[in-house]
Amino acid sequence: MGFSFECQANCSHTHARAGVFNTPHGIVETPRFMPVGTLATVKGIIPQQLKDAKAQMILANTYHLHLQPGEDIVKEAGGLHSFMAWNQPILTDSGGFQVFSLSEMRKITEQGVTFKSPRDGRIIEISPERSIQIQNALGADVIMAFDECPPADATKEQVAAATDRSYRWLKRCVEAHQNTSKQALFGIVQGGIHLDLRTKAVEQLRELDLPGYAIGGVSVGEEPELINATVKHTAPLLPTNKPRYLMGVGTYREMAQAIASGIDLFDCVIPTRFGRHGTALVQGERINIKNAKYKRDYQPLDKTCSCYACSNFSRAYLCHMVRSQEMLGYIMLSLHNITELIRFTQQIRQSIFLGTFATDFASWLG
Ligand SMILES: [Zn+2]
Repeated sequence: MGFSFECQANCSHTHARAGVFNTPHGIVETPRFMPVGTLATVKGIIPQQLKDAKAQMILANTYHLHLQPGEDIVKEAGGLHSFMAWNQPILTDSGGFQVFSLSEMRKITEQGVTFKSPRDGRIIEISPERSIQIQNALGADVIMAFDECPPADATKEQVAAATDRSYRWLKRCVEAHQNTSKQALFGIVQGGIHLDLRTKAVEQLRELDLPGYAIGGVSVGEEPELINATVKHTAPLLPTNKPRYLMGVGTYREMAQAIASGIDLFDCVIPTRFGRHGTALVQGERINIKNAKYKRDYQPLDKTCSCYACSNFSRAYLCHMVRSQEMLGYIMLSLHNITELIRFTQQIRQSIFLGTFATDFASWLG
């Protein structure tokens, strides 16, 4: 079975849509939040717990897996699905974002990016061809184009040059991709906060008729209003019959607003990173479970949540574990946070079917 996207319901007040993305490892019902497993593990969470949290597609990171353990080992193990014992859809990013974040150690040419490995100092070159080769070896269902990600403070000229180069690199990625029946290559719309550059990038990408499209270069340090304005402009320009993925975004408000603009997929490290710092996401709020007021709070984190932490443990117990730096405390908060963000996108999905999205989620859309 290949890849296809069906739109099942459209919101009549916004661009929001509910759909199903079919992949060789199963379906992804959209809109949906995707947990991040950078090193082929969603930190602290076993695959069964991810399934219980209703995760359908998860992410892994090309750059990190290339450095450790290396894609050859993952391939020998039977690919990412088999290596990490996750038999549902997986998406790998291209490594571009990480490579371009290493501003001290890299050199960019038309060919690609050369950098010193922060692990062992060896010189590594990642080009569009190399990124696709690594992603072909890793074997995720969705792979991403290798693109140039300019920083949020780049000038318009710099962003325009990076966007043009990303398009030239995308064509090389398409050329290099060896496994089109089992892996869908998504293109990435760049262009920073400049709406004319975004429009041009979408026009170029549409010509390649790719199986899916992502909006990149948001959430790199700009104001939330600018993210929203960029997504609001860009998402409706993308083809309606292909999945749309907003990279690196996963707060309640940003997701709700992006869904209203027609985005289907999200990823963010927030739920696990917050979990490791003792922060829980509860009904749209952030709570610091270490706070003294939870020491004798014997109710669950969230009465309406069916995750293992909320079904079995009290806030007092979670507070105690996190204050004692017990592993289980961090794991339970991470599991709850993942469950909560997926549930939020599922509730939105349901509201799109019911035609109540614009009213039910009005507080997040304003
Ligand atoms: Zn929970």
